Amino acid sequence: MPRAPRSAPRRRIEVLRIGHRPGRDPRLSTHLALAARALGAERMYLSPPDPELSQRVAEIVRRWGGSFEVIGVEDWRARLAAARGHVAHLTMYGEPLDRALPRLKRTRSWLVVVGGAKVPSELFAMADLNVAVGHQPHSEVAALAILLDRLLGTPGPGPWPGAEQVIVPQPRGKKLVAPPRAGSP
Ligand code: SAM
Repeated sequence: MPRAPRSAPRRRIEVLRIGHRPGRDPRLSTHLALAARALGAERMYLSPPDPELSQRVAEIVRRWGGSFEVIGVEDWRARLAAARGHVAHLTMYGEPLDRALPRLKRTRSWLVVVGGAKVPSELFAMADLNVAVGHQPHSEVAALAILLDRLLGTPGPGPWPGAEQVIVPQPRGKKLVAPPRAGSP
């Protein structure tokens, strides 16, 4: 389904990834950040911090545009308590996404929390919603991607402000161009 027109209320989605293991999970947590960015989240908080990962993602944002950032947090409980919106925890034990979706759509700002190898049980009580994308174990990347797609719709090719390059969708092959300059016809 295409993304909602611009007149629709703008949603603010932030992601909190807890249980990251620097040195063991860099690829998985990087993919989580890239999926969050590409599918419409504004930023990802990463606990514990991993400055190298934040730097790698910043380099991708520099080339591909937007203002997404990965912010390291020492204390994920404090981050969660400071959330500006409501908190949705992705867990296979939660209520089905289809059932939770109307409530997810009623609130403009969400902090979406995803776990790592082990999830502290207190998180279930701290969240406003515990949401399952199916009730089988799979991946934080898959769960986040499906939630964002259902909540925001699938993004089109642009615009990504500040991008050095943009993709021109093709039935075959790859086409990358420099984005048009502001003010050019
Ligand atoms: N063993 C962990 C636990 O204690 O629940 C789950 C580990 S799983 C590899 C990592 C994360 O993926 C989970 O914390 C959750 O955020 C997400 N996840 C995995 N399967 C999911 C599902 N079916 N629905 C929603 N989220 C899921």
